[in-house]
Amino acid sequence: MKTVAIVPAAGSGNRMNREISKQYLRLAGKPILVHTLQVLEACPGVDGLYVVVPPQDAASVRREVIDPWNLKKVAAVVAGGRERQDSVRAGLNAIDRDAEIVIVHDAVRPLISVELVERCIREAAKSGAVTVGVPVKDTVKEVGQDGRVLRTCDRSALWLTQTPQAFGRAILDRAHREAVRDGIRGTDDTSLVERLGIAVRMIPGNYRNIKITTPEDLVIAEALLAARPVV
Ligand code: C5P
Repeated sequence: MKTVAIVPAAGSGNRMNREISKQYLRLAGKPILVHTLQVLEACPGVDGLYVVVPPQDAASVRREVIDPWNLKKVAAVVAGGRERQDSVRAGLNAIDRDAEIVIVHDAVRPLISVELVERCIREAAKSGAVTVGVPVKDTVKEVGQDGRVLRTCDRSALWLTQTPQAFGRAILDRAHREAVRDGIRGTDDTSLVERLGIAVRMIPGNYRNIKITTPEDLVIAEALLAARPVV
């Protein structure tokens, strides 16, 4: 089955307190985006990559990231949108007509493994919609606007959701179309599928698969990479 990966990399990185967007920051000598794309390139099941970047960066990402790092599976660099969901939709509009499975993977999660991506592809081909995640380790509380704890959640059923997420193409297309129609904004793609009543399978992932969001995440990612290189 033809499988493509959409890599949303169009964030501005405000929480990183840096001028440069976090996907371009260097980790062990190369941009975070390059780490992520290299793992996806190394996946035998992935046929093409669609990298979604801030509209003003489209030319420079090709020139300074894709070409120098010799990333051969990049089929297109796509102009992203205001929110992540807009960027994924832009990627979805750009993919090949004959793609049957679509993986969505955040540019800022460079510590994925080939094995995990391949597992997602296999599961999505079987069940239609999957996400990777890990059980929460901490106790989670719901807190009101005034700082008062409202309740303690039952931890045994709670998972932190990561990417990759993978879908049959028709399912993801429909989920995004209906989200636009209904004015829904989701922070991930499986939430748009769940609201259609379609089952989403959780695949146990890895605590290494952190999302680089704040400055301390860079330190953690450096240490994890040094402990065991991904590719
Ligand atoms: O915003 P968040 O940290 O959850 O971003 C997750 C991923 O979505 C990042 O790789 C970021 O570059 C991407 N993103 C995007 N378009 C936006 C906002 C975020 O592609 N407008």
